[in-house]
Amino acid sequence: MHTPLCRHASGEPVDYARRALEIGLTEIGFTDHSPMARDDFDDWRMRNDQLDEYVEKVRRAQREFPQLTIRLGLEVDYLPGHEDWIRSLAARHPWDYFIGSVHYVSDDWAVDSPFQLSKWKNRDAFEVWSVYFDRLTMAAKTGLFEIIGHADLPKKFGHRPTRDCTPLYEKFLDAAKQHNCAIELNTAGLRKDCKEIYPSREILQLAFAKGVPITFGSDAHAPEEVGLNFAEAIQLAHAVGYAESWRLVQRERQSAAF
Ligand code: ZN
Ligand code: FE
Repeated sequence: MHTPLCRHASGEPVDYARRALEIGLTEIGFTDHSPMARDDFDDWRMRNDQLDEYVEKVRRAQREFPQLTIRLGLEVDYLPGHEDWIRSLAARHPWDYFIGSVHYVSDDWAVDSPFQLSKWKNRDAFEVWSVYFDRLTMAAKTGLFEIIGHADLPKKFGHRPTRDCTPLYEKFLDAAKQHNCAIELNTAGLRKDCKEIYPSREILQLAFAKGVPITFGSDAHAPEEVGLNFAEAIQLAHAVGYAESWRLVQRERQSAAF
């Protein structure tokens, strides 16, 4: 879940925590968009000098709602070559977990950006999927992340490759399994044009077959989005065979039945 520091979310962590209690959640985690080494990289994340403020906002929610378990994480953008930067972020606070996310398929194109939709015009969907899943595979192999975020994000606006992507998915999921990464069931996709949880049932089925663990996330960018559509996510996970998900404590993986 996010905070206003990323400049495209609303509500403070205390508001998200209050909402979580209202809907009966017992544990939540904040994973706002990590700063980049260069603050001018883009305009939808916290600045580098706001990282401590972010942690303090989450700490405040922990203090005000001791009856709720609140984890401290980051959604970290993975781009090839950013590994040292990500390691330096990891050293700055006692994080519970990092979600490794690929938004950028090149240094200047975030596939989920509504302001860069025209980029799709010159690109073949399968080619975008190929680059995307290559980067996801690299992200899993770094060992820097407990969870890989929204694994099929390029479907956000409804683009779909016509070619079979199974080999791309398998390569990524094999890397996730080998490097002890979970994938998240992220319900934000239901709120986008694709109208589908990230990742698709097809990918989730392959993930289950390979023994890749899962987590649940609403990717809330506003308090009313906390835990949204979790019933559907749980139903989907059960339907493909999952009975356990991960919780992350100080970068340690723990399994729990759901
Ligand atoms: Zn966001
Ligand atoms: Fe994301």
